[in-house]
Amino acid sequence: MNTSNNKKLFIIQPKGYKYQDFEPLLSHIEDYFNMILSFLKISTPSGNPTVIELTVDIFNPEKISAYAKRITKDPPVYQVRMNAGLSFYLWTVSRTFWIPDYEILPWIEECKINVKNHQEYSKKDIISDCAFLIGSYYILLHEIAHIVLGHLDYLNDEMNLDYLSEFQDEQKQYSAEELRIRKAFEAEADRQAGQWLVGFFENLLGKNGIGEYFLFPSRVHAYEFYVYAIVAVFRLLQDLTQREGVIHPKPNERLYVLIASLSKYFKQNIPDEHDEIYFHAVKSCLEAGKKFFLIDSFEPLDIILNANNLAFVDDVVREINISSYQHNLTSI
Ligand SMILES: [Zn+2]
Repeated sequence: MNTSNNKKLFIIQPKGYKYQDFEPLLSHIEDYFNMILSFLKISTPSGNPTVIELTVDIFNPEKISAYAKRITKDPPVYQVRMNAGLSFYLWTVSRTFWIPDYEILPWIEECKINVKNHQEYSKKDIISDCAFLIGSYYILLHEIAHIVLGHLDYLNDEMNLDYLSEFQDEQKQYSAEELRIRKAFEAEADRQAGQWLVGFFENLLGKNGIGEYFLFPSRVHAYEFYVYAIVAVFRLLQDLTQREGVIHPKPNERLYVLIASLSKYFKQNIPDEHDEIYFHAVKSCLEAGKKFFLIDSFEPLDIILNANNLAFVDDVVREINISSYQHNLTSI
């Protein structure tokens, strides 16, 4: 990472890496998500089956974007797409865990590889790829959340906007009220994606809770890594947006939305572990925020102000009754 760029605040430079280095991982992610979608029954409030066409693009490395779009209202067909340029940057930032002679997590060598004949892959290779998966899963889950929470239907039907882009629609002219709603949708999508993402991570950790092929020293260590992987994603978004966007909450605010979601997931699903994992995750957040230089993410006063900045989200959710647009989601 280079922090001395003269114009921009910060920049992550994907120098020395080739798109081909990680391209096989992209089809794996697309297949995995489509398999999960095939196990889910999603339907609109009126009961029509929701179709989500999800693509992890491998052909457009110059495009740095991710979006969700409603193709048709009836039948309800939606598109989710993450372009290869964004994947490339996500992959690049995930290499932070790989840098030789720099231990971003000093305990990586305490992890174990539970596979015979693994000479091809080092622990740093595996943990970096795992960080890339977490980042990619988060982006895709955020887009799916926009669909399931009814944001796209509300925007289509009430604001005449047929897609939600994570990077490119910041120049659109919104009224102050529309902007407030759009920003609330982004925070709400993060909140939902954050809960799903913990579920995905639990799945990666497997039955024993510390990993199947790659074993973390403990669950606290696993979640420390999880927090670092998320902070890396928000550091990337900080670079790509230069914190200038008006539709998305600031990357540091979004980070704490995801940490609150982690707390909620544990309270609902693994309450016995909540305090230990959540408190350590918050502590890790402060450390990782500092190491990745995520602006306003590691000083206590800034964190309190973050929380206050997002208090409007629940007001908006109530005022526009977005729950009436929400899709139903069950597993088959
Ligand atoms: Zn979004």
